[in-house]
Amino acid sequence: MRVAVVGLGGVGSILVEELSRLGVGELVLVDDEAVDATNLPRLIAAERADVGQPKTRVAARNAARANPHVRLITVPRRVEQREALRELTLSDWIFLAADSHAARHWVNAVVQEYLIPATQVGVKIPVTQGGEIGQIHTATRLITPGIGCFWCNRLIDRTELAVEMLPAEEREHARYVAGVPAPSVLPLNTLAVGEALTHFLLATAMLHQDDRDLGSVIHRPRSRERHLQDARQENSCRWCTAAGSLGRGDHGEVAMRVASA
Ligand SMILES: [Zn+2]
Repeated sequence: MRVAVVGLGGVGSILVEELSRLGVGELVLVDDEAVDATNLPRLIAAERADVGQPKTRVAARNAARANPHVRLITVPRRVEQREALRELTLSDWIFLAADSHAARHWVNAVVQEYLIPATQVGVKIPVTQGGEIGQIHTATRLITPGIGCFWCNRLIDRTELAVEMLPAEEREHARYVAGVPAPSVLPLNTLAVGEALTHFLLATAMLHQDDRDLGSVIHRPRSRERHLQDARQENSCRWCTAAGSLGRGDHGEVAMRVASA
């Protein structure tokens, strides 16, 4: 099986470690960032000497350490860049652990156009300006082709997407507020990844009990709640319906972007 991990930060590094040890044959590792010293407490198997190294290189080293037989393809690019998109279209499953709207949009497009399932794994720790911690939640969202998508479920913000698709030098000027690093805590990342990979394991081993169960799992650890949430679908969606981009493969927008110079 060929599995792609988009985003190799706190969540992505745990995904890579576990997928390697589960015996996945081929891993595609996508991230354009370098390791920062602030990442170290939550980056699995990262060392102080890794600061400044590309996250793809550190992830590949750790994957090979966890399983010397895993084949590795590293793509030190943003996911919306054509080299990365091309690798995603050749994968069997995609894990999305990058929290940008551009990443959501393009992974969603690959899912719908190439009929490849994906799981988004995210952790949100909202902090008010006064430093109050709000309702922490983790989301493990299954994105299945044709049954509702990120656009139908209002998980992509058009303004953010437009800003993120600008060239790097224009991107920061276009923001009202410069990006602030979001808090991230290892046990919460582990909780979300645990849900994602347990589902992946059961689904690929055909042990998932109900084939119609395509729900997402939301945890609210402060109140110790776990909810299942089904995706909504809008009839007129231009991405996840047969009248839209569903199954367009090499005739879709992703293919056009991959082919563009
Ligand atoms: Zn849709």
